Amino acid sequence: MLEPISAFYHSLNAVGRTTMITTPILLLAVVILLVLERKFPYRKGLPFFREGLFVDLFWYTLVQSYFLQILIFGFIIAPLAARFGTQFHWVSSWPVVAQVGFFVITHDFYIYWFHRFQHNSAFFWRTHEAHHSGKQVDWLAGSRSHAVEIIINQTIEFAPIVLLGANPIVVPIKALIDAVWGMYIHANIDVKSGKLQYVINGPEMHLWHHADHEEVYYANFSTKFAVWDWLFGTAYLPANRKPERWGLPYAFPKDYFAQHAFSVYRFDEAALAEKSVVFRQYHGVRWRLLNWVGNRLPAAKVLQGWEVTQGADATVPALRPGGNPAPAASVSTPVESSRPVTAAS
Ligand SMILES: [Zn+2]
Ligand SMILES: [Zn+2]
Repeated sequence: MLEPISAFYHSLNAVGRTTMITTPILLLAVVILLVLERKFPYRKGLPFFREGLFVDLFWYTLVQSYFLQILIFGFIIAPLAARFGTQFHWVSSWPVVAQVGFFVITHDFYIYWFHRFQHNSAFFWRTHEAHHSGKQVDWLAGSRSHAVEIIINQTIEFAPIVLLGANPIVVPIKALIDAVWGMYIHANIDVKSGKLQYVINGPEMHLWHHADHEEVYYANFSTKFAVWDWLFGTAYLPANRKPERWGLPYAFPKDYFAQHAFSVYRFDEAALAEKSVVFRQYHGVRWRLLNWVGNRLPAAKVLQGWEVTQGADATVPALRPGGNPAPAASVSTPVESSRPVTAAS
């Protein structure tokens, strides 16, 4: 059985072979994080089938990533590489480990500042609020990133790797590091890393970043290295305290396309569903699908927290989480909150 796999492996180029190694590592990391989430939960009782899991997995992780990879590599980076050729191949002679380390650190430094900028700019907040919209944050929650945010960040991440002449295998290696670290900082795991949290970022600080508490609206911007937050005065890590409220202080659509439309034009998803039969039907697809899986796959129900509200597809407004104000009240008029979207838009 191993022979065809071995033959296939040797028929691939270096990037393909690296991907054959990074993919199982990624899957293994998912399994480990899922086990740790169940054994040492940060928030007890957070279900595996939490709200928005389908949107994050299907639309953001699979569909959006697939199309944006083609756009970023095929239509932005490839023309740039063709234009500049080997002109800036400054890192080509470095060992692969040094190249990976260099790009991990420099990009993480960039992402800290861009992320901080997104929280401080009413315009760019619109490209980031989707990431904060989930109220049940877990291993997959970090995948929810607006398409524009991904295009900007991944172009700035991968264009230098190609233009500076890094070994092509740096791309899948860096992508693996991003994916695993991204899942880790969002994972619902009660990590207490002590002094390590001054350097290595983890759920301790990033879960606070997803809390709906005023004290963290402008804190904990780091992704991989928490040291940026400590150095630049934006770290927030209270001892023995956990967030009580999560997500955004205003209502946010639950559908992938509605989330993107909402970044351009504010509307009430529930009202739209009430008005438009087509939208209501479309909106109910994933709930019908979840019901379908739940009814046919008893094993799924055994997993903690399987719950699909009866008749959910017919009553979209009922899906709005409790305590979440209607968008008309908080989006169009400035409120006390200092979130850029309310203060400056
Ligand atoms: Zn943020
Ligand atoms: Zn996050």
